[in-house]
Amino acid sequence: MRFTASRQRIEDASDLVVNGVNSAFRQGIRPHPLVFTAADGAILTDLDGNHLIDYFLGMGPMLLGHRPPPVVAAARQALDRSILVAGQTEAEYAAAQLLADLIPSAEQVRFALSGSEAVHAALRVARAHTGRSTVLKFEGHYHGWFDNVLWSVAPEPADAGPREAPIPVPGSAGQQPADVAVLPWNDAGLLAERLRRHDVAAVIMEPVMFNNAGILPLPGYLEAARAACDETGTLLIFDEVITGFRVSAGGAQREFGVTPDLTILGKALANGFPVAALVGRRGPMSQLGGAVLHGGTYNTQSVAMAATVATLTEIAGGEPYRRIDQVGKRLMDGLRKEFADAGVDARIVGWPAVFQVRLDPVPPRDYREGLRADRARYADLAAALLDLGVRVLPRGTWFVSAAHEDEHVDRTLAAVRAVLAGRAE
Ligand code: PMP
Repeated sequence: MRFTASRQRIEDASDLVVNGVNSAFRQGIRPHPLVFTAADGAILTDLDGNHLIDYFLGMGPMLLGHRPPPVVAAARQALDRSILVAGQTEAEYAAAQLLADLIPSAEQVRFALSGSEAVHAALRVARAHTGRSTVLKFEGHYHGWFDNVLWSVAPEPADAGPREAPIPVPGSAGQQPADVAVLPWNDAGLLAERLRRHDVAAVIMEPVMFNNAGILPLPGYLEAARAACDETGTLLIFDEVITGFRVSAGGAQREFGVTPDLTILGKALANGFPVAALVGRRGPMSQLGGAVLHGGTYNTQSVAMAATVATLTEIAGGEPYRRIDQVGKRLMDGLRKEFADAGVDARIVGWPAVFQVRLDPVPPRDYREGLRADRARYADLAAALLDLGVRVLPRGTWFVSAAHEDEHVDRTLAAVRAVLAGRAE
């Protein structure tokens, strides 16, 4: 496929818009960032007129596919009534009720705009509630781009310290120091030992590690983390921005039966509209009604809330999962077969709506072990797939929507087969 119009447009725009993009994660895309003109169902259309089968899905949000009719209709209707009222609407209460019905930890709800913001609010709540200052996170877990948590998120430099006692590594230039402790994930002993100092306000984690590697919690690990937090008065925060509504309608917490004190939701929550939520137990959440400040001019914007209600209603009905389970499972099984037939050591880790493809024969336990995977080869594979009209993230995560159909899966598997056979280069 040719991407020349996109390349030219990015180049021209770069004079005005830094690198032609508006998020750090959109630069460095191979062969270069693309410019899109439309998105519908499972298909993106770019400036060159290419139609691409989309497994980025907006970096995860488009669980129902691009422009699903019930969400589009709800957003249009909302627009006829209001855009922003700086007050309350019934839609936000309806959306909150749907969250409380779906997410085990959601006794109370506070909406925000982005996952990063909701994480920020959660950490403030946790510090205020416990009177402690340190937040404990895990190597390789991403919780947004804010100073508090952007630590030890990317392939670490040699100076990240020993595995048992990592030195927090900032993820950005210009970042403020933070009271943050970092540990390897999936090691219950190290976590319990660290919490016994009774100085940690909250432990925050992706309950399934999808951002930097596809790593499942070891059996009993989430339970052990819950117990260690309970014993030491530490809050447990699950960042379910990716896993929420994808691992199951009730998130990873429902799937694994471990309920955190606080949960961050985002992405699939509103199928592409800028909505995130902090939900949790009444005790800590009540801090938001007291001394903890969390605001936002655009919180619960009318169109976004109508889209949230429509999305969550679809999710609660279960139909999207029946479709995704069928199509996503076919895709996962098909990929396993293609890699096996080509003699490539690959593992597919996850669920039909979100999984990781790893070129790594041994399941990693944590981020450092995850770095063993042949990530350069996978990035080459992703670039070659794009050339055949299949857009997958270069880091291995695949998102599947209710709009993906068998025909898309067939074309995707044929493209993978061609790339693995070396016919596409
Ligand atoms: N937490 C996790 C687990 C995420 O994957 C992301 C975004 N990829 C965020 C938080 C931040 O969300 P946002 O980009 O909406 O700020």
